[in-house]
Amino acid sequence: MSNFIRRLIIPSSLWNNAYGELATGRQQIAWGYVQRSFHDHFCDLIVRHMRFGETPPSGRKLSAMDDWLLLDNPSSTGESTVRHRIEQSELCSGQWMVYLQTGLGDDHSGWIGLIAGGDQLVPLDEVRLVGPRMPVFSRAENAPPINDEPARWSRQVGALGENVFRRVHESSVLLIGAGRLGGLMGESLVRSGVQKLIVTDPDEIESHNLDATFGTRESDLGRFKTVRLVEHLNEIRPDAHLVGLTRTADDPLVLEKAKCVDLLVSCVDNPDAREQASRIAARLVKPHLDLGTIVRHRVSPQPDDLGGDVSENESPLSFDLEYDRDLGADVRLLLPGCCVRCVSAVDVSSMTSDSTLTTPQASDIELTPDWQRGGRTGSLVSLNSMAVGVAMQMWFDFLAGRINGPFWHRLRWEQGVGIQSVAQRVHSPGKCEICET
Ligand SMILES: [Zn+2]
Repeated sequence: MSNFIRRLIIPSSLWNNAYGELATGRQQIAWGYVQRSFHDHFCDLIVRHMRFGETPPSGRKLSAMDDWLLLDNPSSTGESTVRHRIEQSELCSGQWMVYLQTGLGDDHSGWIGLIAGGDQLVPLDEVRLVGPRMPVFSRAENAPPINDEPARWSRQVGALGENVFRRVHESSVLLIGAGRLGGLMGESLVRSGVQKLIVTDPDEIESHNLDATFGTRESDLGRFKTVRLVEHLNEIRPDAHLVGLTRTADDPLVLEKAKCVDLLVSCVDNPDAREQASRIAARLVKPHLDLGTIVRHRVSPQPDDLGGDVSENESPLSFDLEYDRDLGADVRLLLPGCCVRCVSAVDVSSMTSDSTLTTPQASDIELTPDWQRGGRTGSLVSLNSMAVGVAMQMWFDFLAGRINGPFWHRLRWEQGVGIQSVAQRVHSPGKCEICET
């Protein structure tokens, strides 16, 4: 394990709870099982659940396959304590124990992290919290300057501030879907400074994609969407690391590539792919940003049904009934413990009109062959742009620590009125098959 950069990955919610219990002395130790995940030159040690106790677990009482994290009380300082904890652990052959103690020093910002396994005792290199601001505690020296050409990012830094821009710039993102919404999202991410983007989509470019898929040209018909998108993005950001895959979300290669990213984004048009994105996020403990838009026929009264008490200005004869649509978008930022299947519904009661976009996932309504029955009737670059704009802002807010939990933003374009929106913190009621992965 000494050849890898060893990183502990843990949801902020778990970390904050455990740290609070230990720092106040209500609990002596916290511990949780660890899953090893190797990729590139990293060894990620992922923790999904924590429990409390008086004494640490013993390796002999766990399965020989189990690794675990021991989070120690900040008051039990000193090298002898560390040695004592490792002796107490009674590690079986092949087991690893990650020992971590935080809140050390006068300002409580110090920490000790060690990994014991076999005959080795090696330092933990980083602790990465998955949550607001995506904090990283690292043994390494301070990060180098972002760019030696300040003008390149001056507008982004001016808008976001140095810290948030740095988090954007250092983020790597997996984007599932390179179509109308995904292409726009990919371009927004790299233009905003994201340095590493992996895009996957198995589809080829068809003629009906040309109206609203950014970067596509007539000459691209029949080519893979991701191949063209990566080409297009490379022209914008030749310095960025961009990878295109032509796989579906459930392909093992996509899961493998997802290990190294900091954010998973889904821009897909069917519930199965959306859930698959959530499965990857749950398994690897990643934030998940999910986007969906819908344009569909509204079930409207016909002119003959309205009777004679309609004023001239309100008469449906004065506008084009053919363009009578429900237009909406859902953008959801989901964090470990909450996914597209179990997230609570957004409360749209504050929307003034009698919205038909009241299902928990308006974006999941399948294409209905009979357009008159209220299925998806088309797609608009204008609506997609709004969804992508909201998604980017939500992500910036999250990286700034201004969104501190799963969050849902629903947009509705009320024809003749304008934008209506609901933005709410949401939660999971628990007991979800995907989140318990
Ligand atoms: Zn769930």
